[in-house]
Amino acid sequence: ATMPPLLSAIANAGRHGVLVKSAVVMERLGQVDAVALDKTGTLTEGTPRVTDVVPLPGAGLGEGELLTLAAAAEHPSEHPLARAVVDAARARDLAVPTALGFRSAPGVGVTATVGDRTVAVGAPARLLNGTSGTPDDGTPTGPSRADRYDSPATASPVTTRQAPDRAATSLVARLETGGRTAVLVVVDGVPAGVLGVADRLRPDAAVTVAALTALTGARPALLTGDNARAAARLAGEVGIHDVRAGLLPEDKVAAVRERQDAGRRVLVVGDGVNDAPALAAAHTGVAMGRAGSDLALETADAVIVRDELAAVPAVVALSRRARRLVV
Ligand code: ADP
Ligand code: MG
Repeated sequence: ATMPPLLSAIANAGRHGVLVKSAVVMERLGQVDAVALDKTGTLTEGTPRVTDVVPLPGAGLGEGELLTLAAAAEHPSEHPLARAVVDAARARDLAVPTALGFRSAPGVGVTATVGDRTVAVGAPARLLNGTSGTPDDGTPTGPSRADRYDSPATASPVTTRQAPDRAATSLVARLETGGRTAVLVVVDGVPAGVLGVADRLRPDAAVTVAALTALTGARPALLTGDNARAAARLAGEVGIHDVRAGLLPEDKVAAVRERQDAGRRVLVVGDGVNDAPALAAAHTGVAMGRAGSDLALETADAVIVRDELAAVPAVVALSRRARRLVV
């Protein structure tokens, strides 16, 4: 029997490990002429590891205490950085107490009460300068899933009222220049320490960027919530020139809309809750399936099930071929 070209393309995409949700999506994949990629979990493997645990003098905590408090606050979160922090505490055989009042703000961090202390863990730029991650940021309120990636429904500000701590700032700069994601730990409003976290680039990241550039005629852009220094370093390794860092979920949407308003059809590839609004705003949204958040998988038009980034250009090419048969 002969299948309609778009349907056999969907079957073909399945063999490439990509779940394409409809024939319309299969068709739209081949129409894209611009690409925006997320960093953590998309261009990187999304299984970061804690490489540095550095207490700051102000709070007087030891390395073990610092990591214990951070892990307790991060435990309910399924953000890749949170998993790295919890794993690091486990690797050191630290007993991680149960936190209360957990809240998360996508693209910012988490806050919780651990014993009699208030602990905030997250992006240094956001926690140090008082820029809060208030939830009225266009973040979709999806179903609450405390057992999955951070739920935007529980988003709340996590900030410290302390003046930027010079020791923290220079430590963060040193870690970020080394390509690390610096995670600030604030205890009772005082910057208590910084964790350095490193993630590996996916082995197929650079070839994927090259293939998408060849297919669309435009170099992909990098849209990340992570810091500018680590983002620039990674972008250089994969051949991306257009880098936007420190983005909140609505900033990713704005970056996508900007291009679409200029007449481009943007393909967005992401994995996190923070990517969901951009996946929805895109001409076509593709989510990384293995470590992707439920919200990203639900919002995306297609899901990379087999965890190979190179499947993205493969399905765009499949769509192009199928459309030539249809049109
Ligand atoms: P990306 O866009 O690269 O996938 P995210 O938007 O998920 O990154 O996160 C952006 C930044 O917000 C992270 O680099 C980190 O600094 C901070 N952050 C978000 N969630 C957490 C968390 N649970 N623990 C620590 N930091 C976090
Ligand atoms: Mg991500």
